[in-house]
Amino acid sequence: MNLDKLVRSNILAMKPYSSARDEYAGDGEIFLDANENPFETGLNRYPDPYQRKLKAKIASLKNVQTNQLFLGNGSDEAIDLILRIFCEPSTDEIIILDPTYGMYQVSAAIQNVAVRKVPLTPNFELSADSVLSAVGSGTKVIFICTPNNPSGNDLDHDEIKKIISEFPGIVVIDEAYIDFTCAESFTQSLEEFANLIVLQTFSKAWGMAALRLGMAFASPEIIRYFNKVKAPYNLNVLAQKEALIRLEEAPEVRQMADELKHARILLEQQLKSLPIVKGVFPSAANFLLVRFENSNAIFDYMISREIIVRDRSKALHCQDCLRITVGTEEENKRLLQALNSFKV
Ligand SMILES: *Cc1c(COP(=O)(O)O)cnc(C)c1O
Repeated sequence: MNLDKLVRSNILAMKPYSSARDEYAGDGEIFLDANENPFETGLNRYPDPYQRKLKAKIASLKNVQTNQLFLGNGSDEAIDLILRIFCEPSTDEIIILDPTYGMYQVSAAIQNVAVRKVPLTPNFELSADSVLSAVGSGTKVIFICTPNNPSGNDLDHDEIKKIISEFPGIVVIDEAYIDFTCAESFTQSLEEFANLIVLQTFSKAWGMAALRLGMAFASPEIIRYFNKVKAPYNLNVLAQKEALIRLEEAPEVRQMADELKHARILLEQQLKSLPIVKGVFPSAANFLLVRFENSNAIFDYMISREIIVRDRSKALHCQDCLRITVGTEEENKRLLQALNSFKV
């Protein structure tokens, strides 16, 4: 694969902004190079533009090299940068699966990049052949989300590997829910596939959605392009500091994720026993896609009970489906009580 051929020509040619901290990153006693306020406020200095301390910690936790890692303001920043690095507006295309996470299409629309949707099967399974046969001459990026949102299932890894091997562009594997599944992460396949980008986030199992911290894993060559186009100081110092502290709690996070997995299994069984539930799709994430007799009526009723779930009934293969996040034991109990008291 020739990466420079995939990157937009203006991105290839541009000279990135060079910040004061780019031009001198070493030690010094007196820093008069960035027009900062010299009086100590705790926040008067610009943060490390490459988040070196935080990356060292995350890289060792994820068993990758620091130069295989980009950190963004949520993984949504990484999705946006991928579109801007690789896709020429009004010319190039991306492929997404249907149904899937909504941000790929939104980022493409902002960038004026066309989207080809390849349907998953009615059981939300992936066929590599149908994805590969949808590839056109302008297809630069394929987005695959596994476990998939909103369906919750793991997509078949052999089918995914076939796509990565045979597609001559970039394949993005969005692993936002990786901490809830038994499936292996594609971060350990980076050496094998030069065209692979893996996304993960601290917004779900790690319980830090408010912090806005997402990760992209890729070859050092691809990561260099992320660094070239990102805003110079894309992660603020409070987020970097707080993340360093919270990363110490990896065992507790593991425990929380396990607890949520058990709660999901229990909730699935309990939902299946309700007469208004027509089916619950198998999930490897922290949510369940549930098919009801009449999802609109249930959705409105739940709102009247002040329980908010996500209406996915308009999505492909999701007729009469609501997506329900696994909550605390008490929240799940109240959800079930409310559903039980629904009168058809
Ligand atoms: C929640 C979610 C994300 C997370 O995005 P952040 O910007 O990191 O909060 C990414 N991808 C998928 C599929 C998600 O469901």
